[in-house]
Amino acid sequence: MTGSKELFLRYLGQTSPYPLGLEVARAEGCFLYDPNGKKYLDLISGFSVSNLGHCHPRIIAAITKQCGLYLHTMVYGELVQSPQVMYAKELIRNLPDSLNQVFFVNSGSEAVEGALKLAKRFTGRHGLVCFSNAYHGSTHGALSVMGNEMYKTAFRPLLPSVNILEFNNIDALSAISNDTAAVIIEPIQAEAGILAGEIKFFKALSKRCREVGALLLFDEIQTGFGRTGSLFAFEQTDIVPDILILAKALGGGMPLGAFIAGESIMKTLTHHPALGHITTFGGHPVCCAAGLAAIEVILEQNLCERARDVEKLIREKLRHQAILEIRGKGLLLAAKLDSEERVNQFFKLSLEHGLLFDFFLFCKDSIRIAPPLVITDQEAEEMCNLIIQTLDQTFS
Ligand code: PMP
Repeated sequence: MTGSKELFLRYLGQTSPYPLGLEVARAEGCFLYDPNGKKYLDLISGFSVSNLGHCHPRIIAAITKQCGLYLHTMVYGELVQSPQVMYAKELIRNLPDSLNQVFFVNSGSEAVEGALKLAKRFTGRHGLVCFSNAYHGSTHGALSVMGNEMYKTAFRPLLPSVNILEFNNIDALSAISNDTAAVIIEPIQAEAGILAGEIKFFKALSKRCREVGALLLFDEIQTGFGRTGSLFAFEQTDIVPDILILAKALGGGMPLGAFIAGESIMKTLTHHPALGHITTFGGHPVCCAAGLAAIEVILEQNLCERARDVEKLIREKLRHQAILEIRGKGLLLAAKLDSEERVNQFFKLSLEHGLLFDFFLFCKDSIRIAPPLVITDQEAEEMCNLIIQTLDQTFS
């Protein structure tokens, strides 16, 4: 495998001038291993994908079994494919009655695109509302509802009629009007540095949407599947969205996205025009089989409660003079450090100390702490110690 980083830089389109560039030989549980066998504790879980850690045996078994039956057969929505049907049924079983149909796609961004289109089609309106420092994906529609101009300017024109409101500001909600098709929001803004919405804000938001007939879309792409201490974070907000958007952990490590709504909303994609959203690989049977196995393990092993327990352990053990605050819920946490420079130093030292770390998009003074939910107490203590040792070295 020698020379792989050089070939990675030569042959792959790059997303930034400073990729992590660590070569992965294998990954298991909470650790990734490089070709020399050095292990790295995963602080980010692939940005909330690997809730069951890497290569969980139940997920691997489900993938292997499905690979022996069939891979892709036909575009989404035509053939009855048991992994899709069984997974949709299991998702719906765990959701309120009003969320009762699943539309599978490939990724988070595509799920956001589908959900925005569905809201426009259902309401017959085109206004979109999003919030400051929101991240919903990188395709044109999803980028249009990003709450940060820096990443948008170069790609304009984007979708028209997008209104960006201040997160957690109830007064701002009066801007949601009779022209608004959809309000899209993350219950906890991940890339803003793990910023939770307040319950009174969500209640006011839901009320305002109902008053004007706008659909409320919850992007639970990072918060879903036990990460925040409940299966979905909306369960902690006292409200139920009209459309729930999922991806990342939805596929148990395989690429999968979904938007979930009530049948009366969802059925509008089937006529005027028919084929309102179509996707070749959406709901790939192998990805659905993997996702179904993952949710079964999350429920059987009560990993929602486990996320809350490990959060307590981290809040107890992770103390350091450079840490000013720990924000978040469950295992979607951010430690605010005493300066942005400290975060940069931490980043530079993290691989050397056996930690896999990456930055928040919109929050430069905090470090992300989002390990797999299957992390043991011993591994969580090891993680806290490694963070503390790395922070210590930033003082030397
Ligand atoms: N919404 C949120 C909250 C996300 O964190 C992400 C991905 N980081 C997306 C949407 C987009 O998902 P994807 O990268 O699968 O398109």
